Order: sequence, then structure tokens, then C-alpha cells
Amino acid sequence: MNPRGDCTIAVESTIEGTKCRKCGREIRDFHGVDEWITLRHLPILGRRVYLRIRPKRYRCPYCEEGPTTTQELSWYEAKSPPTKAYERYLLLQLVHATIADVSIKEEMGDKALEGIVDRWISTEVKWAEVKKVKVLGLDEIALKKLCLRQRKNSLFYATAHSAYIASLLTSVIATCLQAGVNALEYLVALQEHRQAVFAAPAGWLPWTYPTAGVSP
Ligand SMILES: [Zn+2]
Repeated sequence: MNPRGDCTIAVESTIEGTKCRKCGREIRDFHGVDEWITLRHLPILGRRVYLRIRPKRYRCPYCEEGPTTTQELSWYEAKSPPTKAYERYLLLQLVHATIADVSIKEEMGDKALEGIVDRWISTEVKWAEVKKVKVLGLDEIALKKLCLRQRKNSLFYATAHSAYIASLLTSVIATCLQAGVNALEYLVALQEHRQAVFAAPAGWLPWTYPTAGVSP
């Protein structure tokens, strides 16, 4: 523990081996450990908590020149300083709060927070997932379209799932605008023809869907 009261816990992976980054095979020849990395983690009793770990590195006996690969663990990403659990905690803090509020409370830079939000809430339309729109009633769409101006509105939705749906809708509506299509009519058409949409999604993109109630 440091003078500021932060808790630092050193941890070690008990998992043996990793997959070679070149050939993808399971390798277990221990090569050594990397430098310490520090990951912010969930607070304990109001204290900031940091986990320190020296990632293990393994050498591939199958590839020429025996390249080494750093072991990756499921609870953090190599290029992101907070653990995934802490990132989820931050997203919950952002419900009914602004980036600035959480930035002050958690003593974390607002740019870092925005980066986390961007990573967890996709801003691009994944058309394969558009079928999820079916879970929304038309009233709900009408309500949400009133406040779909900016992606940051996602943070005001009550659950991660509705935030996800809202950001998906935002993307759909932005795509409609770009394609010169009336977004509400498009969403209504998706609802009314949902079976046809699932059967042939390519015919139901904002720029390809049949307008004026024509059944395909
Ligand atoms: Zn290999």
C-alpha cells in the first residue's frame, strides 16, 4: 500500500503455456517473464486497487528460430491498463452520470474513459446483428428516436443492453440519413416484414429495401 492508500497486489498466472503467435500451436517451453505491467482493478473498501503482473513468455519448438509469445489472459487486454472487470464497473458508474462525473470520482482521465466507452459500445452497424431490432416495439422506437442525436446518449440508458440497442439504432439512423432514406419508415418496414428480413437480409438494407409497403 502506498502513502495515498492505494492497494497494489502482485499476481502470477498459474496457467501454463500459450498459443504460438506464428503457427498457432500450443506451446509450453517456458522462456521467461516480461517486465511488470500494472492494471487498475475493482476498488476494495473505497481504495484504488492495482494488480501487477509479469506476463509469462513461451518459446515455440516447432517454428524456425523459435519465436517467443507472451501469454495472454482472459481478464485483461495487452494494450489496455484497466482490467475488464474494472472497465465493466466504470460503464455501470456511467449510467445516469457523465464522463466528467466519473472521471472525477474515479480519478481517471476523461480521454481514457471515452476510450473504454468506445471499445465497449460499438459505433458501427453490424448488419448481422440488426435482427436484434425485432425486440423493440414501435412505441419504444418512437421514444428513442427523440434522443438519438449523439452516441454519448448511450450513457443515459438504464442497462447495458438498452444502451447497446440504442447505439445500434443510432448507427442505423445515421446510415439511413447518409442513404437519403426516412429512418422511421425504414424501421417500421423492418418490423412489418421481419420474416422476409430474416429470410433475405441483403434485400432489406436502408438503400435496398422496397419502399411504399411493397412486399418482396
Ligand atoms: Zn510456432
